[in-house]
Amino acid sequence: MRPYSATLWNEIEAAPPDEARRVQDRQVREQIAYLAAHSAFYRAKFTEHGVDPDAVRGTDDLAGLPFTEKQELRDSLAAHPPLGSHVAAEPDEIVQIQASSGTTGSPSYVGLTAGDVQVWCELGARALYANGFRPGDRLLHGFGMSKGFVGGLPVVQIAQYMGIVDIPVGAEAGAERLLRVAADQAPNALIGTPHFLAYLAEQAPAIVGRPARELNVRTISVGGEPGGGMPTVRENLEALWGATSREMLGGTDIACTYWGECAEAAGMHFLSPDLMVAELIDPDTGDRVEPVEGASGELVYTALQRRASPLLRFRTRDHVVVTGTDCRCGRTGYKVRCVGRTDDMLIVRGINVFPSAVKDLVNGMRPEATGEMRIRPDFDGHSTQKPLPVVVEHAAGLDAERQEALRRTVFDRVRSALNISTTVELVPEGTLKRPDHVKVALVERLSS
Ligand SMILES: [Zn+2]
Repeated sequence: MRPYSATLWNEIEAAPPDEARRVQDRQVREQIAYLAAHSAFYRAKFTEHGVDPDAVRGTDDLAGLPFTEKQELRDSLAAHPPLGSHVAAEPDEIVQIQASSGTTGSPSYVGLTAGDVQVWCELGARALYANGFRPGDRLLHGFGMSKGFVGGLPVVQIAQYMGIVDIPVGAEAGAERLLRVAADQAPNALIGTPHFLAYLAEQAPAIVGRPARELNVRTISVGGEPGGGMPTVRENLEALWGATSREMLGGTDIACTYWGECAEAAGMHFLSPDLMVAELIDPDTGDRVEPVEGASGELVYTALQRRASPLLRFRTRDHVVVTGTDCRCGRTGYKVRCVGRTDDMLIVRGINVFPSAVKDLVNGMRPEATGEMRIRPDFDGHSTQKPLPVVVEHAAGLDAERQEALRRTVFDRVRSALNISTTVELVPEGTLKRPDHVKVALVERLSS
């Protein structure tokens, strides 16, 4: 496959809104008809909710259709192995099965036909091209390669679809092996979670005898956890590696990756009206939220042109803020920044707080702070009337007076930026667990 232009992988990324909508409406009609014909799960759901599939004329009509919850997929998988009753392709059409990380309980499984693999590759290519990856690049693979997760093989498939050389070392290999390969093979592109790639750069002088910026990496794509689009995180990564760093977002249930930040670095674009629908909803009421600048809500996805494991109005629990609706890059899809999982949201005296927002503020307090922090709730559930307990790492060698100043800075900046009170505990550099290829939870609860 070849890119459409120097800035766009596919022409449709810059389609005028009414044209994009026309294409999407047609694909919605085809997908709904396909579900009604091939998926026992969705046929039952349509009957239960009194949905007439023929009456769905396009994207706007989706608002009247039921959601698909993660738990329904788990139940469907458990009752009808191997791929659940929502599977809609014949077994001999399926060529690949991916697993999701399954933060709660057993993994979730997703089947792909050969056509679905092509759709995943096209979705991913648009995101990674926006991030700056180009055919001919040589990519060091810093996501986990194992367990059937989408950061592994599907990223390799997307890279190869784009004409990029993937070096599939994987996060499990550890910093020493990844940095050795970076020094030996001089890849110019790098992909992984933002905090792991920062950690990798910090290890470079000790392991390969030179700073990461003297390795050859020039383009970085980060994802897999919120934070890659925060200015402090991006600037830190870019300085460490001497490269551009842009963010992307995806999720196993729908595909691998499909939102991509462009050169403007002001949020991740929606890129694929022909291949999926991304609705924004209020997570409490389920009502649709218009994706205008400043709006926030949960992302709900409908897969289009999808055969094996199709999903209709799938609730992701990913909470995003819309950062813009037009862009100098020419892409017409709205832009978002992911602030966290709606499941992670805490409510402090009635104010919604995402742990990632506190982390971003602490990142901005270097060099007195290391940037590592945790929230250690002293309450059950998500809601508290008391100040939020925050643990922050201070830099080595910080004297008592400067520690006290840092503690006050944390308290003041969190209060002024997020309107909540905290109790701040400082711990010395190196106390908190460093990120490896597994995501680090910013909220630590005492296990009873
Ligand atoms: Zn843009």
